[in-house]
Amino acid sequence: MAGDASPPRARLAGALADQTDRLSHCVHCGFCLPACPTYTRLGDEADSPRGRLHLMGAVVEGRLAPDSRAFQEHLDRCLGCRACESVCPSGVEYGFLLERAREVAVDACPPSVLQRLLLGVIGRPLLFRPWMWGSRMLRATGLPALLARRLSGEGRVAGPLRLGMAMLAASAPPRPGSMEDDGPGSSAGGEPARLRSEPAARQPKARGRVAILDGCVQDQLFRRVNRATRRVLEANGWDVVAAPGQGCCGALHAHGGRLEEARTMARRNAEAFQRTGVDHVVLNAAGCGAAMREYPDLLEEGDAPAREAGAWLGSRTLDVSELLAADGRTPRAGAPVPWSVAYDAPCHLLHGQRVADPPLRLLRSIPGVELRELDGADECCGGAGIYGLTHPELGGRIGGDKVEAIRRSGARVVATGNPGCIMQIGAGLRMAGLPVQVLHPVEILDESYRRGGIYQD
Ligand code: SF4
Ligand code: SF4
Repeated sequence: MAGDASPPRARLAGALADQTDRLSHCVHCGFCLPACPTYTRLGDEADSPRGRLHLMGAVVEGRLAPDSRAFQEHLDRCLGCRACESVCPSGVEYGFLLERAREVAVDACPPSVLQRLLLGVIGRPLLFRPWMWGSRMLRATGLPALLARRLSGEGRVAGPLRLGMAMLAASAPPRPGSMEDDGPGSSAGGEPARLRSEPAARQPKARGRVAILDGCVQDQLFRRVNRATRRVLEANGWDVVAAPGQGCCGALHAHGGRLEEARTMARRNAEAFQRTGVDHVVLNAAGCGAAMREYPDLLEEGDAPAREAGAWLGSRTLDVSELLAADGRTPRAGAPVPWSVAYDAPCHLLHGQRVADPPLRLLRSIPGVELRELDGADECCGGAGIYGLTHPELGGRIGGDKVEAIRRSGARVVATGNPGCIMQIGAGLRMAGLPVQVLHPVEILDESYRRGGIYQD
């Protein structure tokens, strides 16, 4: 209407305006409610998947403003764990919709300073690397471990500071000799560089060429996991090649609604990996793997080369556990590792990528490993990217339940394939005073190979 200054509905709904078809798949059955960690903790329909989808629909229909408190708060409180997708009988693509809804939400209202700061630094190597260098230096002093034990955890400063220190301490490799031989540390030490040369008949056949995503946090705080991944893949007959030009996968930016930044990162990675011409691109960080598998969706609005590169990469992305232990494959055997291990499934591996059995098959293949049942192993740990830092109270409640389940399992080691989960769970265990180490599953297989003399010292 002439003279009407109100913004058109489609512009307000932004990236959600085109999603009425996807939103319409929700039949409001409520099957997802018991699977949702925020609904089960808060008991508020608006903090359930169904409630959040309803809010998205209301924004699309112009019944709710994107800057309304309801839309902002309940979307912000979602972990993005996608447990709702796994149980939804209608196949609602909740994760896809959430990212577009978050873009609409942050366009309407700027997110918290902490969130802007974290996302502003992650993915920018000139800022991120010095920050991580400082973090590694601090970690090496042992001060974070001390503060995680000593700080009270009460108050607006001490609480987040204690959590941050505990997370940093939890990213450290196990100290040699720090535990008995029913846990890691007894033989962990220097990393072997090459495979021991063996008679040709005992060498595994060359299976193909792969490249590994180094990642950002994984590369800076968990480089040992990347090295273990490379060694283990080589020991299983894969030729691991470099992928120059790769960088941060953009998952955290996509989850935070910063889709344009995520698209830039996706395009750079898709082109870098496509240049390698490898058979598979291997991921050892569940959040990055889910994001890369979804590059075709993210890049669908780009030009033809970007779409093609995104589709190429999306179709070749595999979690390391799939390459080693899916489709009837079993990893090469190593020596016994007599550890009691509880497996906790990263949400973006289990729900985001639907990879359930391969990590368990991988762990079961390691002689000596005693797998313990973990109650709620399929529920989020509360880490959810940067959620543990931006929502310490609710993330802490969810994480506290995970720690209690680990205590009940009696395991000395928790295995989980995502750096954020390792830090969140490890931080909770440290603050609870439980002597349980959190490792990536591939680190345990690597230890088995180390003990079996498969590597050359
Ligand atoms: S389970 Fe699926 S269809 Fe049912 S309410 Fe939840 S999102 Fe909607
Ligand atoms: S993504 Fe997780 S927290 Fe968010 S609505 Fe779905 S189950 Fe709930």
